[in-house]
Amino acid sequence: MDKSSRLKVALQKSGRLTDNSLDLLVRCGLKYSRGKDQLMCYGENMPLDVLFVRDDDIPDLVQQDVCDLGIVGLNVIEEKRLAFKARGIDPLFEQLMVLDFGKCRLSIAVPDGVEYEGIPSLRGKRIATTYPNILARYLRQNDVQAEIVTLSGAVEIAPRLGRADFICDLVSTGSTLIANHLWEADTILESQAAIISTPVPVEADKQDWIHRMSMRIDGVQQVKESKYIMLHAPRAKLAEIKKLLPGSESPTIVPLDGTSDKVAVHAVCRENVFWETLESLKSAGASAILVLPVEKMLA
Ligand code: ATP
Ligand code: ZN
Repeated sequence: MDKSSRLKVALQKSGRLTDNSLDLLVRCGLKYSRGKDQLMCYGENMPLDVLFVRDDDIPDLVQQDVCDLGIVGLNVIEEKRLAFKARGIDPLFEQLMVLDFGKCRLSIAVPDGVEYEGIPSLRGKRIATTYPNILARYLRQNDVQAEIVTLSGAVEIAPRLGRADFICDLVSTGSTLIANHLWEADTILESQAAIISTPVPVEADKQDWIHRMSMRIDGVQQVKESKYIMLHAPRAKLAEIKKLLPGSESPTIVPLDGTSDKVAVHAVCRENVFWETLESLKSAGASAILVLPVEKMLA
């Protein structure tokens, strides 16, 4: 096995997580060139290469220490974790942090016209899913016996084909369910993308890069919603105005030349700043309000 000192990161080759995952690395400073076969990207300005694979293979690649890091949905992570556990496989991958994309949920869905009155309705029924381990745990926890029909895809058509009574599948907007004459009943797992890392200790300079990338990813996630606000405020209104600044810690108060009853207020707001907020600030006495995007942040 190649044990080079370059970090290997596994990303989904083509699917819902691909663009956001690669974009995240680029925002962390990665400049890359694509391999001829399109299976890898090589970092030009950092010792980091990307391997493109099916998302289901990512936990295994990290678990086997073929890749140091991987980006994959919590749904896949949890399913694999349970599968590994059932096979008695230990050191598992570590979960480094959750990311702010790939949001979806694993839910029980019911065909239109079929009655469903909560978990007891699943008793003795057939449920089709690609997540048999998560579903089995859910049934076990709720003390319900049912037959799990494990499929590798196209779960949503299983009831129409007569292969199952219910399904347990990923939902984000719900439009796929509607198109297949199903409705979402109970959610069994909330999911979003996450970074996992190898359970095997890595050499110091690689570990250093993992740490640096974690800090940068943290920064990238924080700036997405963050804004820098500058405004002028009457001293007497300062308390009121501070309260209106969304998600900001203590702002910086700067004196204004030539006046003592007005000050400048500078604040980093860690939430989006809407027009309504600016209007409220203005009504509270603020003037010369500026909202600037934050490009990078390192806590
Ligand atoms: P692959 O060929 O890599 O196996 P796939 O069909 O399993 O692809 P996608 O449909 O691209 O994978 O979904 C990848 C991940 O995106 C899911 O595991 C899940 O974490 C997330 N996701 C977000 N929204 C949805 C959704 N509505 N349906 C399915 N997955 C979603
Ligand atoms: Zn997949």
